[in-house]
Amino acid sequence: MDEVIDPSVHCEQCRACCCRKEVMLLGDARVPSHFIVLDAWGAEVLERLDDGWCSALDRQRLCCSIYSMRPQLCRDVRMGGAECLAARAGIDDD
Ligand code: SF4
Ligand code: SF4
Repeated sequence: MDEVIDPSVHCEQCRACCCRKEVMLLGDARVPSHFIVLDAWGAEVLERLDDGWCSALDRQRLCCSIYSMRPQLCRDVRMGGAECLAARAGIDDD
């Protein structure tokens, strides 16, 4: 079934909420290695900074600095879709 999309949601009016979620790498060979760390179980994940945001986020523009190389899990988040709305629901300041 097609994902239901909320057309009122747009990245340009969002403080990159989905970029504060843990992102596990699933064979994403193009992600630059300096953004990758191991989690407690030894799996490769994107490094998150102390405030929770992904280390690959461009903090000035609140957009992805490795957009063309971003992991599959990031590609799967559809603007206005279920994961996007769930991420936004967990953040108070956007
Ligand atoms: S996909 Fe959703 S949560 Fe992520 S930046 Fe865009 S609007 Fe925000
Ligand atoms: S890789 Fe890019 S899209 Fe994925 S969480 Fe980090 S900044 Fe966001």
